Amino acid sequence: MYYILVINAGSSSLKYQLINIENTDVLAKGLVERIGIEGSILTHKGQGKEKLVIEEPMSDHKQAMGHVLHALTDPKFGVISDMSQINAVGHRILHAAEKFTQSVIINDAVTDAIRDCIKFGPLHNPANLMGIEACQSIMPNTPMVAVFDTAFHQTMPKKAYLYGLSYDAYSEYGIRRYGFHGTSHKYVSARYAKLVGKDKKDIKLVTCHLGNGSSMCAVDGGICVDTSMGLTPLAGVVMGTRCGDIDPAIVPYLMKEMKLDPDQMSTYMNKKCGVLGISGISSDFRDLAAAAKEGNERAALALEVFCYGVKKYIGAYAAAMGGLDAIVFTAGIGENDSAVRANCLKGLEFLGVKLDTQLNQMRGKEMRISSADSKVDIWCVPTNEELEIANQTYELCK
Ligand code: AMP
Repeated sequence: MYYILVINAGSSSLKYQLINIENTDVLAKGLVERIGIEGSILTHKGQGKEKLVIEEPMSDHKQAMGHVLHALTDPKFGVISDMSQINAVGHRILHAAEKFTQSVIINDAVTDAIRDCIKFGPLHNPANLMGIEACQSIMPNTPMVAVFDTAFHQTMPKKAYLYGLSYDAYSEYGIRRYGFHGTSHKYVSARYAKLVGKDKKDIKLVTCHLGNGSSMCAVDGGICVDTSMGLTPLAGVVMGTRCGDIDPAIVPYLMKEMKLDPDQMSTYMNKKCGVLGISGISSDFRDLAAAAKEGNERAALALEVFCYGVKKYIGAYAAAMGGLDAIVFTAGIGENDSAVRANCLKGLEFLGVKLDTQLNQMRGKEMRISSADSKVDIWCVPTNEELEIANQTYELCK
């Protein structure tokens, strides 16, 4: 048995899974919310055990982590007898800029590097560091690995990651496309190759991670050659509440018109735009579909803008790779929303993309949804970022 604790720490939350890497069993999972805020709550579920809810003040991540380990080792709700049974910890880290091209064992130099990247991930990187520090203080002798959202995209060629700014914006300030959701794109692209029994070196693939945050990735020969998110996860397709790609001149214009300072503008673009901003009702695609069905034109328009954007990226990446063998849908929307999948692909028949409308009705399954005569294979592959983090942690710690 080899147990890996996977940690995804946000500014006031901490998600975790305990995975037995030998059979990929999820022994326990849980979530701490409202860390450092009134009403802290831990929800924990061990395999074959009743759900445990702890509502107690948790002033910081260390205290939250203490409760997590308590839950994991609790005789009634826990799944291990002692925390020494945890062989390694894998941490999801948002931004590594150009510092890491793959996962690494955490030491002081690594935490310094993560700290250096706070400028590009001001919300996530400090929270990720708090998660690491909390685990280190409670399990000082357990090896820990940092798995970066940006790492998979580090294979992009310069022509794909350089913006049309002055070169010193890149050389002096590190401004370039980095890309995110790398763990998910890596997982589903490798999984697809395995499912169809092909060598990933022979596949030109577009992976569509469509969830609250959405990103597209061109994976050629198993490596990322382009992706839609940029310096931050704000760029690319229109998202739940994020605006995606816009004309940069809009930023100073709206700041003046709406009298917003840089932080307010950033909050606006991250939280009030996307399909929520267009529809004016919700960022959730289930709400939008229901409203559109009842005749809400702006909800229908939001869905249309989203699908059109995804379609354009698929076309662009087919051109970038000089061909297209497969399209893979994943994440909340990609795995569940058959209407969105169909609309994203509508009009791509000229590329040899042919969806099987019957197969496409399924939700959340790992399966092919293209018709037998489609030149391009279309698949749904549910993502599993926790398992990918656990696998990468195992590779470095075993
Ligand atoms: P994620 O960020 O991957 O957890 O995806 C969350 C999003 O997936 C939600 O905001 C919904 O818009 C969408 N979603 C989840 N389930 C469904 C469903 N059954 N049908 C349509 N959209 C869904």
